[in-house]
Amino acid sequence: MGFGQLKQRLQQELDAFQQEGRFYSSALFSGMQGPRIVIQGRPYINLASNNYLGFAQDPRVIQAAAMALKQYGFGSGNGRLVATMEIQATLERRLATLKQCEAVLTFQTGYDTNLGTLSTLFGAEDVLISDAANHASIIDGCRFSAAQRRVYPHNDLTTLEKHLRDSQNARTICVVTDGVFSMDGDIAPLPEIVNLAEAYGAIVYVDDAHGDGVLGSQGRGIVEHFQLHGRVAIEVGTLSKAFGGVGGFLASDATITSYVFQRSRPFTFSTGHLPPMVAAGLLAALDLLEEEPQRLKRLWENTVYFRQRLKELGFQTGASATPIIPLLVGEAVTATAFVEQLRSEGIFAQAFSYPVVAQGAARIRMIISAAHSQEDLARALQACERVGKNLRLI
Ligand code: PMP
Repeated sequence: MGFGQLKQRLQQELDAFQQEGRFYSSALFSGMQGPRIVIQGRPYINLASNNYLGFAQDPRVIQAAAMALKQYGFGSGNGRLVATMEIQATLERRLATLKQCEAVLTFQTGYDTNLGTLSTLFGAEDVLISDAANHASIIDGCRFSAAQRRVYPHNDLTTLEKHLRDSQNARTICVVTDGVFSMDGDIAPLPEIVNLAEAYGAIVYVDDAHGDGVLGSQGRGIVEHFQLHGRVAIEVGTLSKAFGGVGGFLASDATITSYVFQRSRPFTFSTGHLPPMVAAGLLAALDLLEEEPQRLKRLWENTVYFRQRLKELGFQTGASATPIIPLLVGEAVTATAFVEQLRSEGIFAQAFSYPVVAQGAARIRMIISAAHSQEDLARALQACERVGKNLRLI
């Protein structure tokens, strides 16, 4: 069976994705990605970016990255087992301060962080108990590890407790959860999860990709939000969302980060560095997080206003409690029609359908940023109202 047959099979599947409204075509942005973007010469308001605090195109961040490019050059040239650049070590220390933990290890992406951490720390004698709605990188990290996996329905603490009870013979039991769920924008009931884990001698692992820079009075994430300092053993995060760059990080105890440094295959068998200009841009973004607390305030004002207005219009926004606001429409074809009509109104948002979300749970995911102006949000709401009425959703 040759290449022709393989291509034919894949093309048939691609055609089916198209017909079922679950084919993703990536938009081509010209210029910067920010609260406003340009696609094929036409301006849009961008509701599809995780650039929550507007750092990705902030002049100070750009300047810091540009200077580091001159000072340190473009790439790193070797893996982290061989050498670490000073600016990368500085970033790790700075992130450890932000997360109020002993040590941080940075990775190429948030995806790699979950893959490289879960697969390395846990083996066949251990049990990973994971929320069914966890991000794909957690699911893959759990699969990539040799640990036994038990999945509980989203936020179902009764089943979580049952799994904890049934796992008592394990060497280590670890409950793994997203802090903020990326498709619904809801916040994990972390105090309850931590209480249960402690009662059954388990540890807790949180992916705070959408909580860092967003939750907590200083943007330190879900642990600050719920005041759970010292009770979450392992946190991972991404540097590509609120912090505006690219990369991921593991924040924990120094023994944990040291072990992952030595043994994590996605880390050790890859060049594994954040480019120095990225590290410098991220350091500038962390300065701004501290120096300009009004950004975080603005993010939440924008979020509360936008979600409230959507609800008043009659839209279903599910359990969203963060700047990720899903507009639940049901069928994939409705979601696709919705985003197409929004585009003709100059609004850019992303539709998600099966298999990214459950069958019949298609949605338009809207993401709010501190960088959106009142006028941006008002225009987006007007467009949602027109399209929603057009499609008889409201
Ligand atoms: N975890 C969660 C919860 C995410 O939403 C994402 C990004 N989609 C990741 C991890 C992966 O992060 P990155 O984009 O940096 O690979």
